[in-house]
Amino acid sequence: MAFESLTDRLQQAFKGLKKKGKVTEADVREMMREIRLALLEADVNFKVVKDFTKRVSERAVGEEVLESLTPDQQIIKIVNEELTATLGEEAVPLNKSPKIPTIVMMVGLQGAGKTTFAGKLANFLKENEKARPLMIAGDVYRPAAIEQLKVIGQQLDVPVFDMGTEVSPVEIVRQGLEQAYQNKNDYVFIDTAGRLHVDEVLMDELSQIKALAQPNDILLVVDAMTGQDAVNVADSFNKQLDITGVVVTKLDGDTRGGAALSIRAVTGKPIKFVGTGEKLTDIEVFHPDRMANRILG
Ligand code: GDP
Repeated sequence: MAFESLTDRLQQAFKGLKKKGKVTEADVREMMREIRLALLEADVNFKVVKDFTKRVSERAVGEEVLESLTPDQQIIKIVNEELTATLGEEAVPLNKSPKIPTIVMMVGLQGAGKTTFAGKLANFLKENEKARPLMIAGDVYRPAAIEQLKVIGQQLDVPVFDMGTEVSPVEIVRQGLEQAYQNKNDYVFIDTAGRLHVDEVLMDELSQIKALAQPNDILLVVDAMTGQDAVNVADSFNKQLDITGVVVTKLDGDTRGGAALSIRAVTGKPIKFVGTGEKLTDIEVFHPDRMANRILG
């Protein structure tokens, strides 16, 4: 699971404080040095680390903290609060359309987990809201992607709209939306193509789909295992498409967790969901405070 070594390192840093009866400013500085290294080793973006340690330090060396009866606990509380702030403060739900359907467009690089996530979200909403989603297969460059989405649709009993690989994705989306309006689906998920790298042709196509579908949410799906690359990918997709949220997949893998910790601060866009496995039930709503608690162990 992600964050294991970060959790160990942070607990180690706090232990140093707990041993002391009275905590001095120098002790806080030593602890902050350890936290800074732990975050950098967890592959957190250096600027995010810098801002974070600055905020914690400023609050932790205050007199009311150092002079209190339990300075170590107060400092852990500050770290927890600032970690939560870095992760985004509050859980941000899907943007719901006032009229059905709510349209969600999934974007991201190939292999990030878009198609799987479309299935996970469909399953999640079926279970929690008895939703009736339609999934549109818009990845015409990878025939296996369409097949994969259809298989997921069958497993979940969720309809999949596809027109094969010979029609332009924009046209597929146009006709798929028409079908959703006719069938009164309450959600539409658009699975789009990914490439191995961010490129202009892909962005153009995604912009066209965005202009046509006017999605309520554009969720960028990124693979936590790719570390800071995931953050750079998020930054460029956000600049081109003005995404509305991020999904971080593969948090179950042996990742250091830095991407999850950096993305919100770098892009300003909330993480809405995380993927924690290959099964269609392995999806969690992202709660910054719970994640911060998990990281602190
Ligand atoms: P796409 O190309 O972006 O549509 O990616 P896919 O949905 O095909 O996913 C690529 C691979 O990642 C597949 O083998 C998925 O089973 C796997 N995958 C997706 N999400 C997760 C996750 O949260 N955890 C793990 N361990 N694997 C995942």
